[in-house]
Amino acid sequence: MRSHLLNDTTAERYRRTATAAVERVADKLAATRKPFTGITPEQLAPRFDAIDLDRPLGDTTAVLDELESVYLRDAVYFHHPRYLAHLNCPVVIPAVAAEAVLSAVNSSLDTWDQSAGATLIERRLVDWTASRIGFGTAEETGADGVFTSGGSQSNLQALLLAREEAKTDDFAKLRVFASECGHFSVQKSAKLLGLSPEAVIAIPCDNDKRMRTVVLARELARCTSEGLVPMAVVATAGTTDFGSIDPLPEIAELCELYGAWMHVDAAYGCGLLASRTRRHLLDGIEHADSVTVDYHKSFFQPVSSSALLVRDGATLRHATYHAEYLNPRRTVEERIPNQVDKSLQTTRRFDALKLWMTLRTMGADGIGELFDEVCDLAGEGWRLLAADPRYDVVVQPSLSTLVFRYVPADVTGPAVIDRANLYARKALFASGDAVVAGTKVGGKHYLKFTLLNPETTLSDIAAVLDLIAGHAEQYLGESLVHAS
Ligand SMILES: *Cc1c(COP(=O)(O)O)cnc(C)c1O
Repeated sequence: MRSHLLNDTTAERYRRTATAAVERVADKLAATRKPFTGITPEQLAPRFDAIDLDRPLGDTTAVLDELESVYLRDAVYFHHPRYLAHLNCPVVIPAVAAEAVLSAVNSSLDTWDQSAGATLIERRLVDWTASRIGFGTAEETGADGVFTSGGSQSNLQALLLAREEAKTDDFAKLRVFASECGHFSVQKSAKLLGLSPEAVIAIPCDNDKRMRTVVLARELARCTSEGLVPMAVVATAGTTDFGSIDPLPEIAELCELYGAWMHVDAAYGCGLLASRTRRHLLDGIEHADSVTVDYHKSFFQPVSSSALLVRDGATLRHATYHAEYLNPRRTVEERIPNQVDKSLQTTRRFDALKLWMTLRTMGADGIGELFDEVCDLAGEGWRLLAADPRYDVVVQPSLSTLVFRYVPADVTGPAVIDRANLYARKALFASGDAVVAGTKVGGKHYLKFTLLNPETTLSDIAAVLDLIAGHAEQYLGESLVHAS
């Protein structure tokens, strides 16, 4: 069994095994004709029945053959141009190569003595991201940050810092403001942080799905007059559904006025940091106290790759705990860079290597161009939808999502239209021809394209709109037959 351990004597086995796995995936990617096979859980689950985990197959080829049947054949493939559903991106090759490096070396980012150069790579990328935000580098301004498992964790940590920096430790009094289109991880975080169930105040959005700062101002004033404490305002820079960006400069002013922590959730919009043409959409982000970025969304990185950046690195001390076995207090005096002092996690993947190899191969402009392409495509898709009498489209996109619904001219009754849209999404998924998402707007069911694949074309969009209309018409035809 020792022959399975990766070490100096097994290098050749490692090469063969890893190559076999890579070849399998490469063949698969090259042969994928649809984003999904449409398999159901009921159809897939029985394939697992014959598998006895206590009886290993031993040999890589057999294991990969089995994997083909339980996973690879029916996986959902994000690289396919007609995968248009969630905030999943096709991944760039340098980052995938980095995955192979980082898991083989298996550094852990909690302490210097488990990582060495990996820690410095992460720190450089934190500095790089902070300076793109406009925080300046650690040396200039004391900005800092840490890689996290995802946007949800980054938001949680940001709100932890905000809670610790708040002007009261009476948690019942703390209030957090986010737009009604903000991410649900804000509510989850508030709960985990022991805030009251009423702590998160949803601020309504304007027609462009941006936070209405007039209402924010009114709510901040109301809370203060009631003796409550505005702990944080979460501005979303790229809402998950609409890609809308809250008015950052105005929110910054209000945060300043009320002494509230300004957090910018740029999990989706962070790709703008690399864009040469759209960076101005994030103007005002430099006033934030903290920023969430998900490189695994708009930087085309594999899951997980995310970070939390803070303007004042000293605030990260709220996540600092010392353990004698790991990061004893004296290591701080010895200036040993232990990233665990800044992180909610202990053992932690060297995800930063993916972004590092990406930037060293393609450069930031390369990433920004890819993100610009999908934003341009969303603009063209919007014009297509706006001109199509079969569809109602919600807002002109500022990033790369399109929220729309099928509304046939001759059908009245909002419930029927709702059901037709739900049906069309399900039928499309079952066909595997394309994958789209769904959401609700004003209580009605809508469909959503999240465009993150530069390989997707306007004709893909047109074709998928025809498929959706076809499924919806079929549903309406059948429901008319039932009704008569
Ligand atoms: C995706 C997303 C999150 C959550 O990020 P995860 O990486 O999925 O945890 C948070 N906020 C926004 C605006 C998002 O789009």
